[in-house]
Amino acid sequence: MTNNTKNINQIPIDLHCHSTYSDGSHSVQFVLDTALANGSKYLALTDHDTVDGILEAKHYAQQIGINLISGVEISVTWANNNLIHIVGLNINEEDQNLKDNLHALRMERYHRGEKISQKLARIGIPNAIEGAMQYCDNKLALSRTHFSRFLTDNGYAKEGKAFDKYLAPGKVAYVAQKWASLKDAVSWIINSGGIAVIAHPCRYKFTRTKLLNLISEFKEYGGRAIEVISSSHTLDDAFYIANLAKYTNLYGSVGSDFHRLNEGYRHIRVGINHPIPNNICEPIFPFLNIDKSLYNDK
Ligand code: AMP
Ligand code: MN
Ligand code: MN
Ligand code: MN
Repeated sequence: MTNNTKNINQIPIDLHCHSTYSDGSHSVQFVLDTALANGSKYLALTDHDTVDGILEAKHYAQQIGINLISGVEISVTWANNNLIHIVGLNINEEDQNLKDNLHALRMERYHRGEKISQKLARIGIPNAIEGAMQYCDNKLALSRTHFSRFLTDNGYAKEGKAFDKYLAPGKVAYVAQKWASLKDAVSWIINSGGIAVIAHPCRYKFTRTKLLNLISEFKEYGGRAIEVISSSHTLDDAFYIANLAKYTNLYGSVGSDFHRLNEGYRHIRVGINHPIPNNICEPIFPFLNIDKSLYNDK
């Protein structure tokens, strides 16, 4: 370890973002251009339940001079219907097992969308699936995010409130879905050569005990890392998770979780992140061959 005393308060690394291949609003090229303009050097594209955008991203990244890390964010149902997300980094986007399993997960998305639409129709909001599809290029990518855009743009909810009003668990248009098991998601990632990361842990509102249970099971299956920095996290959350990562020997990751420009509640710009606070836990960066000069080393 070098004794590096540089005080870096932004690092040009982003290990979590979305494009129109899932529920992001912008094309792969636009996402990469924006990341580059923000100073990014390393970017992982992590669309929900798909690796279809990776090849395009890799080609374009090479043209503009960004290091593209192949990624994915897998929807998981864990322990009695808790929806959690597992990010895979450095996965092999050509791995047939990974691709087939992700495709099977995505097949359910449109079907679930029809059920969401029926629930909305019952409370007087007609044609929601057609409306949501206006924001979505591909039936298999259909997400609650697209319903949220339809609902806000048509005056059924205030900006940023469609989840709280209709789409979140327990709300009138929520449809519970069986996604991948934690064990399967982690093993698809690992078997394709990737590293599994627990995404935005504070979003789940788990007690410390429940989060420790998740971490313990995740590690049992071979999971190695957890997001410390995320747009879903406050600074206090980042300290809490960094300490938890240290305590449980997980590596820390950083991700903007970018979906679109000017989105109020996601505050980190695509392509760059805050470093892990006070280097409390080890970062995931060495596993991704990220240039050491770009982050604070202990
Ligand atoms: P889905 O995978 O279709 O169930 O949609 C989940 C996506 O909805 C997440 O990836 C987020 O992008 C978005 N999302 C979830 N909860 C919220 C929320 N409370 N506010 C805004 N977006 C949310
Ligand atoms: Mn999303
Ligand atoms: Mn997520
Ligand atoms: Mn995400």
